[in-house]
Amino acid sequence: MLRVNGPYVHNSGPLAGRRYVVLTDNGKRTTKLYSRHLMEQHLGRVLDTDETVDHIDEDKTNDDLSNLAVLTRSENAKKSAALRLSVEWYEFICPVCETPSKKEARKVRHNRKQGKAGPFCGRSCAGKYMGP
Ligand SMILES: [Zn+2]
Repeated sequence: MLRVNGPYVHNSGPLAGRRYVVLTDNGKRTTKLYSRHLMEQHLGRVLDTDETVDHIDEDKTNDDLSNLAVLTRSENAKKSAALRLSVEWYEFICPVCETPSKKEARKVRHNRKQGKAGPFCGRSCAGKYMGP
């Protein structure tokens, strides 16, 4: 008998923030990403190893079925490559350590709108910044 426990949330590592389920089948325990599990339930079949579950809005913690789509590994790779190409970079000199850096322009604009200082090369410089 297959038992499904969860979803739980990965709290560290490369999958931090993502939900997963624990499957127990005759004492054998495996884990599976919740998005994949949901899609399999929805389709009524187990996904092929070549099939990946894509998060349409790119928010990997948004496991709502309406945000999930099945892509083959090559389709998913193409989507990731297209997203990387469409990213607009903002280049600047970090005001704390004076290292040339770059950040996604979209995020820089977002932070400005919120009245945040920066951009900085990283979290540690943002923490050291004392204001203008
Ligand atoms: Zn810096």
